[in-house]
Amino acid sequence: MASPRFRDTGRFIRRTAPTKIYTPANLADLMRCLNPANNAPVPIRIRGAGTAATDCNTNSAGTIIDMTRLDRIVHIDTYNHTVKVEAGVRLGTLVGALADQGLELIGNHDQMERTVGGAIASPCIGACIGGQAAYLSTQVMNLKVITATGQLMKVSEQQKHLLNAFRLSYGMLGAIYEATLQVRPIATFSASHRSLSIETFADVANRLASRDIGLKFYVLPHMDRVYLDLRRYERTPGNSYNAPWKLKDWGESTVLPHVFKSLNRVLPIPAMKYRLMDSISAATHGLVNTRLVRSGNNVTTSGTRGRRKPRNALRSTWCFPASDFSVVIKAYREFCSDTLAQSGYRTDLPVVGFRVARDVSAILSPSFDEPLIALQTASTQEKGWEDFVIDLAQFAENWGGTPLFSESRALRAEFGKQMYSNRLNFFCRMRRQLDAHGRLLNPFMAQYFE
Ligand SMILES: Cc1cc2nc3c(=O)[nH]c(=O)nc-3n(C[C@H](O)[C@H](O)[C@H](O)COP(=O)(O)OP(=O)(O)OC[C@H]3O[C@@H](n4cnc5c(N)ncnc54)[C@H](O)[C@@H]3O)c2cc1C
Repeated sequence: MASPRFRDTGRFIRRTAPTKIYTPANLADLMRCLNPANNAPVPIRIRGAGTAATDCNTNSAGTIIDMTRLDRIVHIDTYNHTVKVEAGVRLGTLVGALADQGLELIGNHDQMERTVGGAIASPCIGACIGGQAAYLSTQVMNLKVITATGQLMKVSEQQKHLLNAFRLSYGMLGAIYEATLQVRPIATFSASHRSLSIETFADVANRLASRDIGLKFYVLPHMDRVYLDLRRYERTPGNSYNAPWKLKDWGESTVLPHVFKSLNRVLPIPAMKYRLMDSISAATHGLVNTRLVRSGNNVTTSGTRGRRKPRNALRSTWCFPASDFSVVIKAYREFCSDTLAQSGYRTDLPVVGFRVARDVSAILSPSFDEPLIALQTASTQEKGWEDFVIDLAQFAENWGGTPLFSESRALRAEFGKQMYSNRLNFFCRMRRQLDAHGRLLNPFMAQYFE
């Protein structure tokens, strides 16, 4: 359980001078914002859609550069299967424009409100099939970046180490202005669904995690239920329709959080409230994840493409070695019931899991050494959440969890450094070369990257 020590939650709340927010509309504006001669208050943080769960995208003083007006799709090359985009383009807009040309992103990503820049600079993970693309950043071929000194820098595939540093760089090496991504013709996969107890899931988890399939799952730890979503490419996968996936996305990410927020307000008796919430979750997942969707592609599964506002839930995500996951998931169930017994707190939304393939394309890749399973814990319950994420971080440390600097709440600096060790040191050396005065480092990032 959480100790009464200072609670380092990863959310800095102390305010000093008001933060300046710049929203550049073109390259020249962006260069001006970062040019030291123009004296923008430091530290400077780059922000995409602002959906990350930690303070990696914000500042309580200094400057925020909001990239969302840099939103041009520059060129879709239907012959070579590439797309050149400005960093502020929303994933949903990009997915729609590619689909019009019969193309899709490689790798299955939802959260369509986030920006291409944010999804390159921080781990953008989803239910990807096989070992093809753990992160959206894996597909980056070229970048145009504005450095902390306000200069334009081009990074190409030929500069492998530099490109690997810019992928998942959390806005610490500069602002990504434009990116060229590899895409591909739309490919349909089949989706099958199972509902299992946690014990049965644990029995097959390691085997599933090592196979060439897309693995996503939803866990209801207090109901002992796991809903599996398995995806694979088949010779004749059938047709893929938009409507069922839209309904699934709406059920999982809009209906559940809204209903639960209301239940939290109107039902004061926890036991009764949680029983009802778990039944609603089970019914929703039972319906949408067992009968509704049988085949899809990376366009149809991407959910509500027009969304601009981030979804309204508290989140913390940690990744665990896929090879140990059968043990971890049972330990997680115990952790949830112990926490409920001792503190009275539990999360109300299902925990979402993804298999993340081994990927060495970024220096700060969380899955650099081995495939991982990302576990995303989410809740609409604010009271008790801050203590819960501290306990969750402790649980993750005990079970060899790898943190994501944008998603793992209450991450201890020492542990973050330990898990990324030599790669982090290498990255920090590069960071110091590109930003000698630490203009892009806010206090939150400085804990790990000073
Ligand atoms: C409800 C919910 C569920 C989520 N589920 C998932 C999930 O399933 N899988 C997943 O991978 N993520 C998930 N996320 C996390 C989030 O979507 C990712 O962290 C996302 O990639 C961030 O994109 P963004 O545009 O919001 O970036 P921000 O949150 O604004 O920024 C993220 C980081 O990128 C940097 N950055 C942003 N733009 C640039 C740029 N142009 N140049 C340089 N650095 C930049 C920022 O400084 C920051 O460090 C979820 C978020 C929400 C709200």
